[in-house]
Amino acid sequence: MKKDHIPFNWPHMTGKELYYIAEAHFNGRLAGDGPFTARCHRWIEERTACRKALLTHSCTAALEMIALLMDIQHGDEIIMPSYTFVSTANAFVLRGGVPVFVDIRADTLNLDESLIEAAITPRTRGIAVVHYAGVACEMDTIMAIAERHGLMVVEDAAQGVMATYKGRALGSIGQMGAYSFHETKNVISGEGGALLVNDPALSLRAEIIREKGTDRSRFFRGEVDKYTWQEVGSSFLPGELIAAFLWAQFEEAERITEVRLAAWRRYHELLEELETQGVLRRPVVPEECRHNAHMYYVVLAPGIDRQRVLERFRAAGVSSVFHYVPLHSSPAGLRYGRAHGDLEVTVRQSESLLRLPLWVGLTEAQQDTAISVLRSAVTDDTR
Ligand SMILES: *Cc1c(COP(=O)(O)O)cnc(C)c1O
Repeated sequence: MKKDHIPFNWPHMTGKELYYIAEAHFNGRLAGDGPFTARCHRWIEERTACRKALLTHSCTAALEMIALLMDIQHGDEIIMPSYTFVSTANAFVLRGGVPVFVDIRADTLNLDESLIEAAITPRTRGIAVVHYAGVACEMDTIMAIAERHGLMVVEDAAQGVMATYKGRALGSIGQMGAYSFHETKNVISGEGGALLVNDPALSLRAEIIREKGTDRSRFFRGEVDKYTWQEVGSSFLPGELIAAFLWAQFEEAERITEVRLAAWRRYHELLEELETQGVLRRPVVPEECRHNAHMYYVVLAPGIDRQRVLERFRAAGVSSVFHYVPLHSSPAGLRYGRAHGDLEVTVRQSESLLRLPLWVGLTEAQQDTAISVLRSAVTDDTR
């Protein structure tokens, strides 16, 4: 890290990662589904009350497993936001599915539940929600719509570890959910993820798909006397070294979340003044959502040139980033997906959103620097 430079993200290590990796090494158990993987599975199952948790090598892999478990066929439609990471859509496109992009709410930037029903066609199979910034979608409404139309709800909870909706863990509410432990998320293993299965009818198949389409997990439990090829699958499981690393992070997940929340709240308090001045708006967290401080973002007021603000950050040595480039108008989105409506909120918000540095170890002085760069950039621009 260059002195005086404030990075956007800095992966937090708890200090025990190498110790647990050494333990896995010493045990001589390096392939997947060893003792550390089992511990990680139990941890997720206990914390989220999901039926079955399975570590995967990424959230992307967990989403691909979801598409396989839904048995997505050519032309099947999945309703999802356009304002998301590519993996949400890619996982279904790989199976011949068609993402149907629906607009987001202007407050939480989550899928706008009031627009879902109009996007349903006879080909619709499911709704893929994305809990943006660890703030839950309006799940009661979405689950009720899905039930009325016989659709599955799957949760891209990549950003939602340790966050809840009405007391329920994100990823445990729909039929299936996916977590990410990528280095840029809150709880990490470099690359990594998990599939959460809530529908009991899917849990055995999930194990099979993850183990190259075989019933190897049942064989190891002594439930069958040999394992064989059962259905289409792949290798979705991480090795034990990754699980050992992740276990060290799980042990500290509570503290990591608290530290991030403290930094998040500090940004939130100190930026209230700029919101009152009308130059930006701060994130909105509905009453029923407990978020995990995955990110702190601001949405710049119309007329403020984001590019100029980003340049000011760069000049000051503070890393600020934006995302997402909407999927519905991207080259692959146009080819494989379909937009429902004009997605006006998606287009507008994605052009004016800015994320501030947020990581465990970010100092108050660094936060103050980021805030003052932002303040001078947005006030200059409008006055
Ligand atoms: C990070 C992220 C992913 C991808 O996670 P990987 O573990 O890197 O595959 C998918 N969806 C969303 C919303 C994300 O933020």
